Amino acid sequence: MQKIFRKYGLLVWLSLILIAGFCAVLFAGYVVSRDTLQRGITEQTLPITGDNVYSEIQKDILRPVFISSQMAQDTFLRDWIIDGEQDSAPIIKYLKEIKTKNRAISSFLVSDITRQYYHADGTLRTINQSEARDQWFFRVKNLKTPYETNVDLDMANRDNMTIFINYRILDYSGKFIGVTGIGLTLDTMKRLIDSYQSRFHRNIYFIDTKGNIVLASNTPKRPNLNILNTPGISSIAPQILANKKNESQHLAYKTETDNILLNARFIPELGWHLLVEQELGSELKPLQEILLVNAGIGAGITLIVLIILLISVRRYQIRIEKSAATDQLTSLMNRQAFDFVFANALLDSERSRQPMCVALIDIDFFKKVNDKHGHLVGDHVLKEIAMIAKRSLRESDVICRWGGEEFLFLLKNCTLEKATSIAENLRSTIASNDFSRTTDLARNRLSITVSMGVAQCKDKETEDSVFERADVALYQAKENGRNSVYFAE
Ligand code: GH3
Ligand code: MG
Ligand code: MG
Repeated sequence: MQKIFRKYGLLVWLSLILIAGFCAVLFAGYVVSRDTLQRGITEQTLPITGDNVYSEIQKDILRPVFISSQMAQDTFLRDWIIDGEQDSAPIIKYLKEIKTKNRAISSFLVSDITRQYYHADGTLRTINQSEARDQWFFRVKNLKTPYETNVDLDMANRDNMTIFINYRILDYSGKFIGVTGIGLTLDTMKRLIDSYQSRFHRNIYFIDTKGNIVLASNTPKRPNLNILNTPGISSIAPQILANKKNESQHLAYKTETDNILLNARFIPELGWHLLVEQELGSELKPLQEILLVNAGIGAGITLIVLIILLISVRRYQIRIEKSAATDQLTSLMNRQAFDFVFANALLDSERSRQPMCVALIDIDFFKKVNDKHGHLVGDHVLKEIAMIAKRSLRESDVICRWGGEEFLFLLKNCTLEKATSIAENLRSTIASNDFSRTTDLARNRLSITVSMGVAQCKDKETEDSVFERADVALYQAKENGRNSVYFAE
């Protein structure tokens, strides 16, 4: 790990910065979108739904309230009660008229004096304080407000939700004398709730002042429940019930599986709270999908960038390593690199017990070439000798530019005899080559000769000692007339 870090430190840092930056951008983008979405839902979507439902309710409710109020203030109706409810025919006719004109489900009148229940069909019944189904009357009798709304949830056909307006009738001195009103279906409201629920995945329902769910869509999520003891919403239920103003509240609560955003408002006409909810999880899903797609694209791009970077750095590294190990003029290995190669080769040869030789080459009278033809020609000669040497040696042999106009060969797996013959071949090739062809001295033949000293590496011999023996052999070649190969014993 440490090794990788040392070698690719820059790359590791760059990757970390790229990945961290990318994750930060992605995460920030997601958080901002999520908050915007959440704010949009709580501050706009839910209140607008609440407003729409409320205005529909007003349309549905205000009419029956208005009709019932007219009935309760009708002088004929009040006089009829005050006059002792003599003949029921006119009042039944009156109730029938009201019912058919307003396309109501029912119309009724209950007198506090006789406790008689009159309705449009004319059947009479006496209400009884001890009967549960008649309790509503005694509740209305003690009401502080002029009327109450009562939704009949026990109708046979649940789709035909009926709202009853129970309006108090007072005599001319303000004394309570009975209750009158009509019952109407809540069809429109119900349809509205259903459409919001299915189209926008919003959960819409009504609770009474005690927290009981009194009206929800056809597929209510919490039928016949009280929000005070429903897990999740119970945490904010007291807050919802405490709000008696017709203003919306922005609330939120958590269920086991999701976060719910909630808009609550009190509807005074009904004495109910209207709750509009939206599950945040389903709204966030598209956002999370985009996040995943972005993450995938980003990861792909980051990977491609890193691979390109890795390849470039690697190539650059190889180039630097190569140029540090190569001689610029001849493209041969330089002396520093050769030292390393030679040390390894020496170890190999000792291990495999294979003979290994070195040959030192020095160009004869090279100074004269420079002096006579100039340094550029000298350089060309050096390059050409390097090329000839490369061509004439074996794949496994190593050539190095040892110094100014000196070269050194490393001949692996090679006896002294073989090495001397290779050196001799090379010497004669160089001697017979016309160097003027690669220079601008086209017309005058330029011949170059070299002297060589060959030495075989001995057991446990140091590098310096081998090179010295080769050098001595080379010196002998120079001494004895040059253009020759000498070997050290
Ligand atoms: P000899 O070896 O036969 O005794 O004679 P020499 O003239 O070759 O003698 P010496 O080795 O002393 O001279 C080497 C010359 O090589 C000196 C230097 O100017 C020249 N030389 C060394 N490196 C380069 C190079 O890279 N380019 C050129 N053009 N000349 C070089
Ligand atoms: Mg020399
Ligand atoms: Mg020389």
